[in-house]
Order: sequence, then C-alpha cells, then structure tokens
Amino acid sequence: MSGLHNKVVLITGASSGIGAGTAVHFASLGCRLALCGRNSENLQNVVKQCIDAGLPEEKVFSVLGDVCIVKDCERAVKDVIDHYGQLDVLVNSAGIQIPGSIETTKLEDFDKQMNTNMRSVFVLTQLAVPHLIKTKGNIVNVSSVAGLRSFPGVLAYNMSKASVDQLTRTVALELADRNVRANAVNPGVIVTEIHKRGGMSEEDYQQFLERCKITHALGRAGTVDEVAKSIAFLASDDASFITGVTL
Ligand code: NDP
Repeated sequence: MSGLHNKVVLITGASSGIGAGTAVHFASLGCRLALCGRNSENLQNVVKQCIDAGLPEEKVFSVLGDVCIVKDCERAVKDVIDHYGQLDVLVNSAGIQIPGSIETTKLEDFDKQMNTNMRSVFVLTQLAVPHLIKTKGNIVNVSSVAGLRSFPGVLAYNMSKASVDQLTRTVALELADRNVRANAVNPGVIVTEIHKRGGMSEEDYQQFLERCKITHALGRAGTVDEVAKSIAFLASDDASFITGVTL
C-alpha cells in the first residue's frame, strides 16, 4: 500500500473488532499509531499485537476515552499532535448497534447510537481537520451497508450510518480544494463482537451468520482483516484520486 509508511493514524474503536484489525494492519505497514477506546485492557492487548506485527514500541500508543465525550475527543487529537507533531489519517471506527424498530426503540438507545456512531464522527472530524489540512491527509469512516440500505429492526443504527455517509460526502466536497480526502467503508456483516454487545444471544448470532450465506453475494460474513485492507487502501496514496466514496 503506497505512501502509508510512517503516516500518523488515529483510530477510534481500536480496542476491538474492525478498529483493532485496522490497527494491526496499519502496524504491519509501518504507520505511527494512536489507538482510542474505553477498555484499557483490550487497548493494551491491541498495542501488543501491533508491536508483535513489527511496529517499534515508540510508534504506537493508546488513548483511553469515550468518543461521546467532547473533552475525550479533544484530548485524543491533542495527544496525537503532542506525541507525533502531526496527523495524517483519521479512522472513525467506534460504533454500537442496539436493535429496535420505530415501535420499540427507546429514546435513550436512539441517543446512544447517534452519539457514538454519528456525533462522535462529526466532533472528531472537526477537531482533526486543521491538522489534516497541514498534512494533506484523509479521513476514513467506518459506516455500514446499513447507511446505504434499510434493515428493519435496527432503525437508529441505519439512520446513524446514513448520516455518516452524508458527512463523508459533504466533507469530501468541502475539503477537496485543501487536498484532504474523506471516504467511508460500508461493510456488510463482519464477524466481531458488535451484535452480541447489542444484546444478540449466541444462538441468534449463529443464525444471523448463517443468513449471510443467502444475503451476501459471496455467501458468507466478512472478516475484520478484509475491512482493514479496504480502509488501508482508501487511506493510502493508491486512492489519491478517490474522495467522497462509500465503499
Ligand atoms: P466491536 O464491538 O468489535 O468494536 C466496537 C469498538 O467501538 C470498540 O473498540 C469499542 O471500544 C468502541 N466504542 C464503542 N462505543 C464507544 C465509545 N462511546 N467511546 C469510545 N469507543 C467506543 O464492533 P465492530 O468492530 O464490528 O464495529 C466497528 C465499526 O464497524 C462500527 O462503527 C460498526 O457500526 C461498523 N460496522 C460493523 C459491522 C459488523 O458486522 N461488525 C458491519 C458494518 C459496519 P470499547 O470496547 O473500548 O469501548
């Protein structure tokens, strides 16, 4: 992947799933990393995996923080600049999914999903932009196929991801003249903890994965590594003429 070596990358949701896999993949490409999440033990584990992937210790550190808290987002970006002096890539991967239809979604769960999946992307992007302008950097948002299509039973999640796609496309247009790119990946079902964290039982989860054999053209769920590679492509110079896409 061209142009990523030594690039400074801030990844939210780096303590688990797609964000963690992305951290390890970027580590293998020699990026300088800042890994953000709330679970300290998981984050330290991912830091260790990055070092095991060949990244020198001084090229990775963790930032404990909640993306729903603006002060935590401010501290994350400040820590990156204090530590590395620049920011080249922002990967917004933190996210949650709480099932619920128009009839059953509690306002509290609606707010939680909007704050985590959408508002945090706005807040972190706004904080990162001045630094990304300096480096002609880019943003990769981890959206979802739920941003592009409607899935019954996860109404607020669909809404939050559609909003992330709009943010991505609009920011791409607003920052193009400053050579900052903004793109999103919109994966189908990927094997991670997100569904079980949202309350899905193990049995329902296994059935859900089985249904991927019918619902995805490739007849299976995807892997974290497959998404990480798409994120790295969009962040790299290989995608230098790509902005505003929802992949
Ligand atoms: P995981 O549950 O494995 O990981 C979610 C990550 O988000 C964790 O690192 C978690 O950190 C972090 N996170 C959640 N809430 C907060 C918060 N308030 N503040 C800081 N960090 C937070 O799920 P995935 O890896 O699957 O999800 C990553 C992204 O991918 C999400 O945006 C999701 O919507 C998207 N996605 C996932 C798909 C899938 O099928 N798995 C499909 C399409 C998109 P911690 O535990 O430390 O709090």
